[in-house]
Amino acid sequence: MTEIRIPADLLPQDGRFGSGPSLVRTQQLDDLMDRATTVIGTSHRQQPVKQLVHDIREGIADLYRVPDGYEVLLANGGASAFWDAAAFGLIEKRAQTAVFGEFSSKFAHSASAPWLEAPDVREAAAGSVARLEAAEGIDLYATAHNETSTGAMVSIERVQHDGALTMVDATSAAGGIAVDLSATDVYYFSPQKNFGSDGGLWLAVVSPAAIERIERIAASDRFIPEFLSLKHAIDNSRKDQTLNTPAVASLSLLESQVRWMNENGGLEFVDARTRQSSNFLYEWIAHNPWASAFVAEEQYRSQVVVTIDLDESVNGKAVTSVLREHGIVDIEPYRKLGRNQLRVGTFASVDPVDVSSLADCITYVVERLD
Ligand SMILES: *Cc1c(COP(=O)(O)O)cnc(C)c1O
Repeated sequence: MTEIRIPADLLPQDGRFGSGPSLVRTQQLDDLMDRATTVIGTSHRQQPVKQLVHDIREGIADLYRVPDGYEVLLANGGASAFWDAAAFGLIEKRAQTAVFGEFSSKFAHSASAPWLEAPDVREAAAGSVARLEAAEGIDLYATAHNETSTGAMVSIERVQHDGALTMVDATSAAGGIAVDLSATDVYYFSPQKNFGSDGGLWLAVVSPAAIERIERIAASDRFIPEFLSLKHAIDNSRKDQTLNTPAVASLSLLESQVRWMNENGGLEFVDARTRQSSNFLYEWIAHNPWASAFVAEEQYRSQVVVTIDLDESVNGKAVTSVLREHGIVDIEPYRKLGRNQLRVGTFASVDPVDVSSLADCITYVVERLD
C-alpha cells in the first residue's frame, strides 16, 4: 500500500471521535488539576468529595429540569452494573425489553434472571429499532435511547399500562440528546460518553413511582446483593455518598462537564451541537457514492453515533489505520457488528468544525487508497 500523508491543514484540532470512552475536554483536566491537593486524595466521607457528588446531582437535575419528586442517583459500577441492579431491584415480575443492538441485548439478558418471568423481548435487526408496546403482565418497559453499537436512536415515550415503569438506557444519549424525563421513570447512564468522564459510575434520574417500586421490592423477601441494591443507592445518594469508594477523579471530570453544559445553555445547547455534527456527516454521506448510512430510516439515525457503511470498493480497515497514524482515532465499527463500516461519535464535546475536518480527511484517504 502506498503511504498516504494527510496535509496538516486538513486535520481536526482534536482527533478523538470514539463512541466511549470519548473525548475529554482539556478544561476538565485543568479543573482536575485545580483539585489536585484539595479534593483528589481526600476522603469521600468528607465535605469536599461530598460537595462534588452534590454538585453533580444538582447539575444533572438542572440540565434535565427534572420534574417534581424525581431524584438523581449516583453509584459505582457503570451501566452494566445498573442492568443487574434493575433485575434485582426494579423488575417486579416481568419486563419487556426492546433489543436492537449489543447494549440493549445485554439488558434483556439481565432481565432473564431466575427469580423473574422470562422477559418479553421485542427484537429488531441491527441498524433498525425495536419499539415497546403495552402488553399484559409487564411491570417494566425498557429500551435504549441510543443504541451505541449501531447508531440507531428512538424517541422516548412512556408506555402507559397498569402502573408499569418506563426505563431508558441513556448511556450514550444523556448529555447529548434532548428528552422530556416526565416520559420516563428511570433514565440511567454511565458518564464516559457525552459527559467525557471515565467509566465505572452510573447515574439514574428516577421518578417517585420508581422510588416507590425500589423501596417496595427492597422490603420484600427477595435477596439483593448490597453492591447492586438500588435502595442503598437511594439512601447514599440522598447523603451525596456512595456505598463504596468512588473514583474521585471521575467525579471531578463529570462535574466539570455538567457545569460546562449548563453554563452554555443546557440540554438545548448539547442537543443543537450534536445535531449539527451528525447532520453534517449524514449530508456528507449522501454526497459520496461509496458511503451510505447504516441506519436506513432517517428518523432513527443517531445524532451522537453516526455509522457509515462503506462500499466494498473501499477498505474500511485501511482507512481507519491511515487516520490513526494521523491521530484520528476510534472510528472503527463496533467490533461484534463486523461490517465494512466507520462509526463516529459526535458527542457534545466534539467540535462540529472538527467533524467537517474529519469528513475531509476520510475523503482524502479514500481517494488515494489503492
Ligand atoms: C457504553 C454503553 C453501555 C455500557 O456502559 P458501561 O459503563 O461500560 O457499563 C451501556 N449502554 C449503552 C447504550 C452504552 O452506550
